[in-house]
Amino acid sequence: MNPRGSRSSGFFQPGASEPFTVIDDIPERAMVVCAHPDDAEIGTGATVAKWIEGGCEVVYVVCTDGSGGSNDDDMTSDRIVPVRKEEQSEAARILGVKEVIMLAHQDGGLEDDRIFRGEIVRAIRTHRPHTVFCHDPHRFNGFQHRDHRMVGTVTGDAIYPYARDHLHYPEQLEEGLEPHKVHRLLYWGADHPDVVVQVTSAQVETQIEALSKHTSQVGGLTSADLSDGLDDRPRFGERLRERSRSAAEANGFEHGETFRQLVARA
Ligand SMILES: [Zn+2]
Repeated sequence: MNPRGSRSSGFFQPGASEPFTVIDDIPERAMVVCAHPDDAEIGTGATVAKWIEGGCEVVYVVCTDGSGGSNDDDMTSDRIVPVRKEEQSEAARILGVKEVIMLAHQDGGLEDDRIFRGEIVRAIRTHRPHTVFCHDPHRFNGFQHRDHRMVGTVTGDAIYPYARDHLHYPEQLEEGLEPHKVHRLLYWGADHPDVVVQVTSAQVETQIEALSKHTSQVGGLTSADLSDGLDDRPRFGERLRERSRSAAEANGFEHGETFRQLVARA
C-alpha cells in the first residue's frame, strides 16, 4: 500500500450476488509475492493465517524496500527502509510465515525485465509452491500503484512459462535448481474475483494484528498520533473486518477473502 494513495489501493472489494467458487483445500506450500512491505498482509493475511494453521509452509517475496512509503516530510528513504524491513519481519512472525525474501528493489522502480523475472523464477524454483498469491495486474477499477502492476505481470510470467520450462534461466538449473510448475495463481485486488476462502473471525484478527506491525504505514500512524490517543488501528481493523464480511456474504459465510484464480492445466 502506498499511504498517500491508500483510498485507491483496492482495499475494498465489491461483494457479489452470486456465490463464489470456494477454495477449501490447503496446499503444502504457498508463496506470496508483493510489491511493498504490508501489501501481503492486506491482500491475503487471513488466508495465510488459515493455511499456516492448517500446516501450509508460506514464503513471502517482498519485491521493493518500501523506500517511498512515508507521509512524514521529515522521513528519508534511508531511514524508512530498515524500519519497514523490521515491520515486515514482525508481521510475518505473527502469521507464522516461514521465510521472508526481501528483493530490495527501489520502491517505485520495478520493471518488467529479465533480472526481476529471474528473481521470481528463482524463488519459485527454490521453494516450489503449489499456490502463489500476488497483486492483480489487470485491475481497472481505480488507480493502482505501478509496482503492483509490475509484480502481478512479472509473477504471472515467472510462473508460466519461465519457472516451469527448463530452457528458461538455464543457469539456475546448472546451480542445482529444478523447473517447477505452480498449480494455482490467486490474484488479490481483482475487479471481478471468482473464488473465496472462508476464514474465521480469529484469522481476520490475526491478519489485523500482523498488519498493525507496519506502524509506519497503518493509517499514517505516527508516534504523535499514539501519544495523542489517536491510534488509528481500530478503524483500520474495522475496514478489514468489513471487507472480509462483504467478501463472504454471497456464500453465507461470516468472513472470507476473495481472489481471481488461474489454474494450470494438468
Ligand atoms: Zn504496495
